[in-house]
This record gives sequence, C-alpha cells and structure tokens, in this order.
Amino acid sequence: MTYLDYQASTPVAPEVAKAMLPWLEEKFANPHSPSRWGSEAAAAIEVARKRVEEAIGLKGGTLAFTGSATEALNWALKGTVEKAAKTNSGRTRIITLATEHAAVLDTCEWLATKGVDLTVLPVGPDGRLDLDLLARELDKRVLLVAVMQVNNEIGVTQPISEIAKMTHEAGALMLCDAVQALGRMEICKGPDLVAVSAHKIYGPKGIGALWMRKGAEPAPFIHGGAQERGLRSGTLSPLLAIGFGAAARLSDERQTRDYDHVQKLWKAAVHALGPGWIINGSVRHRYHGNLNIRREGLDGARLIADLRDVAFSLGSACASGSGRPSHVLRALGLDYRQARSSIRLGFGRYTTQKELVDACHRMAAAAHEQEKLDA
Ligand code: PLP
Repeated sequence: MTYLDYQASTPVAPEVAKAMLPWLEEKFANPHSPSRWGSEAAAAIEVARKRVEEAIGLKGGTLAFTGSATEALNWALKGTVEKAAKTNSGRTRIITLATEHAAVLDTCEWLATKGVDLTVLPVGPDGRLDLDLLARELDKRVLLVAVMQVNNEIGVTQPISEIAKMTHEAGALMLCDAVQALGRMEICKGPDLVAVSAHKIYGPKGIGALWMRKGAEPAPFIHGGAQERGLRSGTLSPLLAIGFGAAARLSDERQTRDYDHVQKLWKAAVHALGPGWIINGSVRHRYHGNLNIRREGLDGARLIADLRDVAFSLGSACASGSGRPSHVLRALGLDYRQARSSIRLGFGRYTTQKELVDACHRMAAAAHEQEKLDA
C-alpha cells in the first residue's frame, strides 16, 4: 500500500506513539483532580501545551485544547460573534474566502442565518486572494476576517501577515486556519486566532487547539466544568494532549528536514507523471507536499478504483465522500468536468521517493489506458 493522502491525515510518528503509551496503559487519572496522579497528568498537559505553542511560534497569547480543528474554528467564529454582540460594537461582518475549509464556510453560513453579514471573497485562477479586493471590503462593520494559510485541497498559500495587517488597520480581528501549515512551514505572524490539529502533524486524531492572542479570546463555546481557564469545558485527555505535544516538538525539530524531503519528492513526482498533467493552483505560492493535478478527459474516481493499493484522493477527503464537486476547484474557475478529472497526491515525512515514483508511473499508465479505452 502506498499512502499518498497526507492532507487527509498523517501516520502517527513512532516517537509520538511511544510518548502516548504510558497514558493509555497506566496513567488514567483525571488531570483536573487534585490527587498526586491528577497533578502529574495536569503537569504533563502543560508541557504539551507549551510544545504546541512553541510550534505555532506566535507571541502574546495562549492556547486551549479542543476536540478537533473543526471545533476550534467553530468556537473562534461563533464565540467572536457572541462576544462582539455583547459590546454593541456595530461590527457584524465576517469576510472569508471561497476556498476555505467547510469548518469555516459552513459555520459562517450558519452564522449568516443568525444575522451575521457574510462576505465570501473569490480567488484568482491560481487560488490566491487579490489584496485589493480585500481592501475594498474592509470597513468599520467588519468584525473578523478568516483566511487559511495553506489550502488543504490545492496546497496554495495566502499572504496571511499582509491580510492580518490590513484587518487590524480596519479595527477587526483575524482568524487563521493553520491546520495544513503547522509543522510544514512557519506560521505567519499577525493573526489573533489560530486553529490547528494534531492528526495533520503525525499526532493522534481527536485533538485540536485554538491559539488566542491576549484579549481576543472568544466567548466560551462548550459550557461545563470550566476547564481551560473557563474557556472550553470538558475533561482533557492527557493521552491526546501529550501525543499532540510530542508531535509538535518533533515537527519543530524536523521542520527543515521534512521540508527539504517534500521539495525533493515534489520534483520527482512531477517528473515521473510526465506530460499532459496540469497543476491546479499556484506552483510558486504553495506547500509542495500537495500535488493537485488534472488531466484532460481523466475520470479521477476511476483512477482511484484502478489503483486500489495507492491511497490518494479527489480534491479533499470531505469533497470525495460527499460526491459534490470540490468547491475549491470550482472557485479556481474549473468546470465540473475539469474538477472531476483532478486528483490530489499528498506526501510527507514517511513517503519514499521510490514508492512515490512507482505510484506516479502507474497513475500515468492507468491514465493512458483510460484515454485508449475512451478514444
Ligand atoms: N482545516 C483544514 C485546512 C483541514 O485540512 C482540516 C482537516 O481536514 C480541518 C480544518 C479540520 O480539522 P479536524 O480534522 O481536526 O477537524
């Protein structure tokens, strides 16, 4: 089996699994209980928190663990709106992009049904935001601008620091979905709220986090036992938090090595696929561990069925599951047929050049076979 779906999820690093094991097998105490065992778990969670904060690398804020990045994004959006409503600031607008993850877009659309004035900006054919377009939209009514650093479907990056600067000049807050950026590149300076997830950085599924600049903390989203400084109730899982911390520390230590490895893999994959493939989105402004490509006339779903022992995806895992054409590819201006002929190859730390090149050769051969049958 060749795994080329690193944007959907990453394998758990052996070092992470090792760090987690005692917290699965032996250390079961509630980290919020005052016993010695509870205090030990609480202290281990604080070390993990520090490691995730260090991997994010922003100053002047704190981090709360959540059950996923989806929860962190829901919290950031809904909690910011709720907090603003209490201050009568008159700021009721949210600006986001057409290529954001469903965790942002669907939450924004839900908020729009509750009175939020939503603006979803288009992107260019390269997947990038035109900053002049944003400048024209920023006014005194804007509360929050939500833009992701690295797109999960096409790998395209956005100029987050510039967006944050413009947003702050308009007196608004900026939320950055950094799920696909953490551990893969430096997180851009500037945002007030940053959402991340452990399972995209070789950690466990079921834990994410929201980093919050001091003063920008959203109103609580989950109510109960007032854990996480009263901001996010619910008993924390030492197992998952420690796994996230170990993954964050490892990603920090290996960032340059992982980055160089991915650059090499990208070149090898593009070369092995040969001619006839078009890269979706900007080639320059991109994380190169994401190769989203299309080919005239290709049936992407059929290609996945033809190569059962290679795990790759059509656009994004969510879009693949729903059968809906990818909203990201449509936002680039691709028609339904072009979106259907697109596939996403995602590779990372544990991908070898040989397995990737072999898989690309087989994909190219299967695509040629389709063309012959369809001719
Ligand atoms: N944002 C982006 C860019 C993602 O790729 C994902 C995961 O697919 C999410 C948010 C949601 O993360 P989680 O799986 O932790 O809910």
